Amino acid sequence: MPPRQERQGPEQLLEPYIHQLGLKWKVIPTVDPNVDRPSIASSKVSQEHHISFPPGHAEAFRCDAVHELTHAKLSETIDPIFASIYFQRSEDINDPAFRQRAQMVYYAQMPVEVWVADYMSTVDRRLAVEDVTTWLQAVDQIPGPELQRLTAETVIGYAVNYAQIRRTGIRGYDRQESRVRQKIKTFLGRDADQIGRQLGRYYRELPQLPMDPTQAIPLFEQATQETARIAGFPIKPSLVQEENHWVWKIEDAA
Ligand SMILES: [Zn+2]
Repeated sequence: MPPRQERQGPEQLLEPYIHQLGLKWKVIPTVDPNVDRPSIASSKVSQEHHISFPPGHAEAFRCDAVHELTHAKLSETIDPIFASIYFQRSEDINDPAFRQRAQMVYYAQMPVEVWVADYMSTVDRRLAVEDVTTWLQAVDQIPGPELQRLTAETVIGYAVNYAQIRRTGIRGYDRQESRVRQKIKTFLGRDADQIGRQLGRYYRELPQLPMDPTQAIPLFEQATQETARIAGFPIKPSLVQEENHWVWKIEDAA
């Protein structure tokens, strides 16, 4: 037997969670100095999950590492559209208009983050606490003017965080949460605050994600369309099948 290689990176950290989640596809983590946040791409065909992390990220934020694995679980159980965003092949990815609409779909499909958080809290409740705390602290620390460049991300992130706190029943965030809300009001404006509140209430009441595609896909589509509507995006994203894969089709909002 060859000597066991000295491992580096997030593999060791992920292993117990891969086991606990019962993942069957191969998990391939990479550390990429060119990315600023973790992301995952799952393939039904190759039965692989490729997860990339900024250097040191998985080690510093265990909740983010398990978050990506939870996307992997939803990929295997339901469909990879619960891990990554795919569009129709006919879209031209170099078209700036498409890229703008794709960005809106990225934000509109954030309900998936609510369901990932639900699932992750059943894996280990401490991860939910870490997740909520990390997000609130991050927004607390970003200077207000810088936050203005992250409007959609902050407003929808607020809503996801708001829902996560209430759906998992974790306590003790009232003061921090209202400070972040005040910051949103001050730097992003009253409308942004109202959208964040409305989305937060909608996410709090979202049904649990059914673990089969026939129910989960229509619910995901509906929640994404409702998010686009509340956020005021001029698009209507729907899920369609293309070559046996679920992909987003972007139409203009009525
Ligand atoms: Zn996610």
